[in-house]
Amino acid sequence: MTSQLLKANVLKKMSPVFGQQSYDDHEQIVFCNDKDTGLKAIIGIHNTVLGPALGGTRMWQYNNEWEALNDVLRLSRGMTFKSAITGLNLGGGKAVIIGDSKTQKTPELMKRFGEFVHSLSGKYITAEDVGMETTDMDLVRDVTPYVTGISESRGGAGNPSPITAYGVFMGMKAAAKYKFGSEVLEDKSVLVQGVGHVGESLVEHLTNEGARVIISDINEERLNEVSTKYGSSIYRGQDMYSEDVDIYAPCALGATINDETIHRIKAKIIAGAANNQLADEAKHGTILQERGVVYAPDFLINAGGIINVYAELEGYGKTEIMRKTENIYNTTIEILRKAEENGITTQEAALNVAQERIEIRKKENMNL
Ligand code: NAD
Repeated sequence: MTSQLLKANVLKKMSPVFGQQSYDDHEQIVFCNDKDTGLKAIIGIHNTVLGPALGGTRMWQYNNEWEALNDVLRLSRGMTFKSAITGLNLGGGKAVIIGDSKTQKTPELMKRFGEFVHSLSGKYITAEDVGMETTDMDLVRDVTPYVTGISESRGGAGNPSPITAYGVFMGMKAAAKYKFGSEVLEDKSVLVQGVGHVGESLVEHLTNEGARVIISDINEERLNEVSTKYGSSIYRGQDMYSEDVDIYAPCALGATINDETIHRIKAKIIAGAANNQLADEAKHGTILQERGVVYAPDFLINAGGIINVYAELEGYGKTEIMRKTENIYNTTIEILRKAEENGITTQEAALNVAQERIEIRKKENMNL
């Protein structure tokens, strides 16, 4: 072992949290534990330069606590750049609850989680993510105002997933315009991985446009439901990534573009809703660029949901939500061109624009 590697290992042991690979100057990490309800959660606040850290809560059965910590660090960082590039005055945060949302989620657990959110006095504002429903956010709302994505009957903007899907659809069209010269997706083959809240709504848009939709999910019931409703084909093979499709839309969990999959991907465009699709941003972004695969950065095209919940804080209505979400098309085109002009990956181009906005605000805040 080289002395450098030894040093890195020693540092990691001494600093298991701040030394984490996914730790990126996060401002605050809050570990929440409640024996009575069985709640084990982590709230990650990445950056609050542009505003309070807003991001959803994910409930997932992680293999271990490190995996959960890693996820919340990656997800909260992504939220910072998502809001920044979308022009919202929000910082980046996210929360994870460790457990099975189908069997371990109770109203008491959700309310206890809400109390932890409340204890941060608005520095972190929550919403739904994987494993959460609007009704869960309503329970959180019972104990704290620092929650979005609540029911329309309670003054919220409702389920953000259809808006997220619409934004992804816009981003996908922009990528198609850039790659194929036309934004029309009719007859294009699109593989949608994960047909949950966002995936199903994306399938609807694609079907209406006349695309050839292939779906994949680990949940057989969902597969059958969506396939019956929209007439999509179900992928039944063993090697989904090698499927010869025009577009791959990751709409399940993150890091599906990794060392194992990247060289098998045949799609010419990757555009989907999942957060953190690239396991290693720099490495996998570069490989996609070299292979000529157009990657529409996830945090750019899946911003519809945050635009929708931001409306609850800012008080704008559906027309403005749709206008802002439709604008994802223009921003995506702009980012894809910027990447090409500067010979950088699309991920890097998007990060640069987001970081620039944060730096400008930081300077403004310092001069106040
Ligand atoms: P969801 O839980 O409703 O759906 C996820 C679906 O993916 C489920 O049907 C699940 O069975 C399936 N799945 C899980 N692992 C899979 C695998 N290995 N292969 C195939 N399918 C798999 O979640 P959602 O709200 O639709 O969100 C989907 C993704 O989009 C998540 O990564 C989420 O973070 C991201 N996202 C969602 C929103 C939103 O508004 N809901 C906004 C931005 C980003």
